[in-house]
Amino acid sequence: MPKHYWIAPHWIDYVSCILKSRCLNLLAVLLVLAAFSCAYAQDAPDAAQETLRQKEYAEGTKLFKEKKYAEALKHYKKAADTSTDDGECAILAGQCYFHLKDYDKALKQYQLVAENGKRISVKNKAQKCAQQLSCMMKGICPGNCLKPSMKGWRKMKVAGTPDRLVWMVYPYLDPAGKGGSEYWSNDHMGEVIEYVNGRPKNMGKCPICNGTGKITLTK
Ligand SMILES: [Zn+2]
Repeated sequence: MPKHYWIAPHWIDYVSCILKSRCLNLLAVLLVLAAFSCAYAQDAPDAAQETLRQKEYAEGTKLFKEKKYAEALKHYKKAADTSTDDGECAILAGQCYFHLKDYDKALKQYQLVAENGKRISVKNKAQKCAQQLSCMMKGICPGNCLKPSMKGWRKMKVAGTPDRLVWMVYPYLDPAGKGGSEYWSNDHMGEVIEYVNGRPKNMGKCPICNGTGKITLTK
């Protein structure tokens, strides 16, 4: 008989078999418990965070509607600090800064969300807010009215119009399949050109800048 070799008696086989199956059962139970507790461990704080976010968001929104922006800001900030905010509350905090005329902070807030927002739609929204605000901070209307600062103005000789004009081209392909371009001159500065049914249309004076193309942020 080789050294360290041992044939266990039958009763040991029997016991070890029971133990093994017990062990396996226990292991299975433990695994299920672990999975549950793991899920719970993640869900429980999230649920608490979400409750807090909703509470702060509701209070912030109530105050915002009452134009109490400084008060609203405090609540939106708390909501933005929760782990479940996707960036929406952080954008709202930016809106408060904007109304408080703290434009630098508003811009920073938007830029932060544009970078760190948890959803692409929220990031895009923040990006748009940041672009519009930085436009306004430069004195340029953020609306889609014709402005001198726009890229694409070109000098063209158009029969029957004075030479001093520069033009903006609006290409189109309408649903009927008719394509082409329409041009508006700088005589229409501050007017909104929008595509309606595939064709560019002059919608009149920009309501944001009142047809000036410019905007002044009050401090
Ligand atoms: Zn405008």
